[in-house]
Amino acid sequence: MTQQEYMERESKFGAHNYHPLPVVLAKGQGVKVWDVDGKEYYDFLSAYSAVNQGHCHPKIVKALTDQAQVLTLTSRAFYNDVLGEYEEYVTKYFGYDKVLPMNTGAEADETALKLARRWGVTKKGIPNDQVKIICCEGNFHGRTITIITMSNDPDSYANYGPLTPGFERIPYNDVAALERVLEKDGKNIAGFLLEPIQGEAGVYVPDDGYLKKCYDLCKKHNVLFMADEVQCGIARTGKLLACDHEGVRPDILILGKALSGGVLPISAVLADDEIMLTIKPGEHGSTFGGFCLAAKVAIAALQVVKDENLAANAEKMGKIFREEMKAIKSDMIELVRGKGLLNAVVIRNKPGKTAWDVCLAMAEQGVLAKPTHGNIIRFAPPLCITEEQLREAIGRIKTAFKQFE
Ligand SMILES: *Cc1c(COP(=O)(O)O)cnc(C)c1O
Repeated sequence: MTQQEYMERESKFGAHNYHPLPVVLAKGQGVKVWDVDGKEYYDFLSAYSAVNQGHCHPKIVKALTDQAQVLTLTSRAFYNDVLGEYEEYVTKYFGYDKVLPMNTGAEADETALKLARRWGVTKKGIPNDQVKIICCEGNFHGRTITIITMSNDPDSYANYGPLTPGFERIPYNDVAALERVLEKDGKNIAGFLLEPIQGEAGVYVPDDGYLKKCYDLCKKHNVLFMADEVQCGIARTGKLLACDHEGVRPDILILGKALSGGVLPISAVLADDEIMLTIKPGEHGSTFGGFCLAAKVAIAALQVVKDENLAANAEKMGKIFREEMKAIKSDMIELVRGKGLLNAVVIRNKPGKTAWDVCLAMAEQGVLAKPTHGNIIRFAPPLCITEEQLREAIGRIKTAFKQFE
């Protein structure tokens, strides 16, 4: 089959809820992927930072295949011999009393919202019909009805009917806005949910000190600080968590994506007992949440992050990447920003010279990345990338930009 035929088949039988770059991939290993014709690419998307550990990491795949032959799923109706091992491992790894395992990032965010509401009602004493959660403009937390309620992107929320009450949105990277809403209504606010770096919005890095100031305000008003680290967590930005850059420990930590190294949908919410134990047996759950395969895969994926010092490598490679990108002399590039290996290049979109055109040209040169929000290209290779590989990829990116001169 030709690439065209693969694409037409997807288009004919699959819903049209994505607009992929016209590349049909068939294989991945480490920082590289290959299309069905055998052409090689550097993957600078990493499945939205789900494959931080690199494609088909042998240790993660082995954990998957070993466990797959023994026991895959028991449901939570029974105990099994691997879930507890994972729960102990992940809570000690991130330093929390408890974990609540889910599958997708959206489910983990939903779980965090339920926990915050439950804590707000049962511990803070907010009337059940008045609990509020504060979120940020430009957020991306997933695709459920409740989560799109928080979004100010019409592509996310428009024409999906009545949305969920109980949210208030404030500008991102604006401490004063948080202070105002807390002063006004703090007694009814259970939690403040934010991405420590906004990924989907276009890799918006807030000012230094923003996270810490928000955290301190939340403490002052007895409001939970909830960090969605689904994309920016797990070594992506040069620390294990993006919140670590400011020494902030979220009250509720939300993880997904790289928690499995891209092998399975695995997400998690971490919190201490005062919050986590407000949900009692039968009051929340998921058939697959924390299933046996996920337990073993997540342990392996997190172990790889430590063993291979991926956070330190992300920090080092990210500096090189931003330096080199800033050195490109092209009037198409408006700015370069990011932290660790979560970076973005903002393009001055002109007809025939849009971010989409640049991504097509880069694909031709053997580098895959995708625009987010029209004119922003996110660059986020697997964190195991070596300096030699990074410099080769940068060379290809520069060649792609030259074509537009
Ligand atoms: C991707 C993402 C999600 C949603 O994860 P899914 O697994 O796609 O549901 C939530 N929050 C952030 C910050 C994300 O980047």
